Amino acid sequence: MPLPPPGTTAGIVTDGWTCKVCGTVNPVSVDSCRSCQTSIYEAFGAGEEDRPEVEPSRAALWGLLPGGGHFKVGESALGLAVAGLLLASLAFGVLMIGGNRRPVGIILVVFTFIAWGISIYDATRLAAGNEDAVLLRPRVVTSAMGLVFMLVIVAAVSITGEGTTP
Ligand SMILES: [Zn+2]
Repeated sequence: MPLPPPGTTAGIVTDGWTCKVCGTVNPVSVDSCRSCQTSIYEAFGAGEEDRPEVEPSRAALWGLLPGGGHFKVGESALGLAVAGLLLASLAFGVLMIGGNRRPVGIILVVFTFIAWGISIYDATRLAAGNEDAVLLRPRVVTSAMGLVFMLVIVAAVSITGEGTTP
């Protein structure tokens, strides 16, 4: 991997990420460079050359652990975010099913397993070097996390309201 020219850094800066290819500073909310469309994964230097060689089927197997497939292919930060999303959503879901908010709990648990399945597919795509096909990108994971917390807060607040007991 060629070193970046002196005075430039590829990777995270305070308010965005710097494209390794053209040097454009992009907001964290975009997945690919606004100027040259380089993927954020390449721009972070996590290209195929740095990535451990993992068979897609092996990555899928590791994906049975939340975020495990991502860790296996060297996408640890994304793996951690995915694991956080899956575990938080599952934990809140189980709590609500056990509590007084069964429908919301079921939604969260179903969501967890769908997202879990997608994360396993994502791990195989990453292992195959097919980053562009990844669905649970950093921005998607943070948005989903926000939705989960919103749902939990709305459900918790509405418990004090009319209260539809299942
Ligand atoms: Zn660029």
